Amino acid sequence: MSATATNRRAFLRRTTGLAGGTLAGLGLDLRPAQAAAQRLKLQGAKEYASVCPYCAVGCGQVVSVRQGQIVNIEGNPDSPINAGTLCPKGSATYQLAVNPNRLTTVKYRRPYGAVWEDVSLDWAMDRIAERVKATRDASFREWWDGTDAEGRPVRKRLNHTPAIASLGGATMDNEWNYLQLKMWRALGGIWLENQARI
Ligand code: SF4
Repeated sequence: MSATATNRRAFLRRTTGLAGGTLAGLGLDLRPAQAAAQRLKLQGAKEYASVCPYCAVGCGQVVSVRQGQIVNIEGNPDSPINAGTLCPKGSATYQLAVNPNRLTTVKYRRPYGAVWEDVSLDWAMDRIAERVKATRDASFREWWDGTDAEGRPVRKRLNHTPAIASLGGATMDNEWNYLQLKMWRALGGIWLENQARI
């Protein structure tokens, strides 16, 4: 461990200990002030039950919205999954939603291009459809021809494409996954995976 890290920890220990000790020594209880600050923050906001977007645990969240803007996201105490708690990642969901660095347009880099261009969602969807069709047409395998253990010719129907893979996200729900599976199986996709299977 570096001397800097040790010094920083020692400093934090001393200052937090001092602050806590001083306030306790003065008989101050900060909890009512903290609760009042939280109430003020949420004043006039409407609460919506939601689900954490990060992993398949699916913790419940309460999203507070005022005048069309998210002002707070925290664990939903009514959720039987997390009973109001969130892990560090889920606790940072507010920063995912309200963040000046968040991309709000579709970015596209052309083959051999050096810059990302803004394109419309419709254009991107059409382009993806075109490429899926072209790849499927070029790689579709209808039959497998081989031999059995005795060397006799064997022909089996495949009807698949090994050239396209699908990777699902952790927060896609059962209905979405069902439809996605149906679509890819109908197209002949065989590489179907999900980011978090539990
Ligand atoms: S709060 Fe954490 S454990 Fe819960 S769903 Fe979100 S990422 Fe997963």
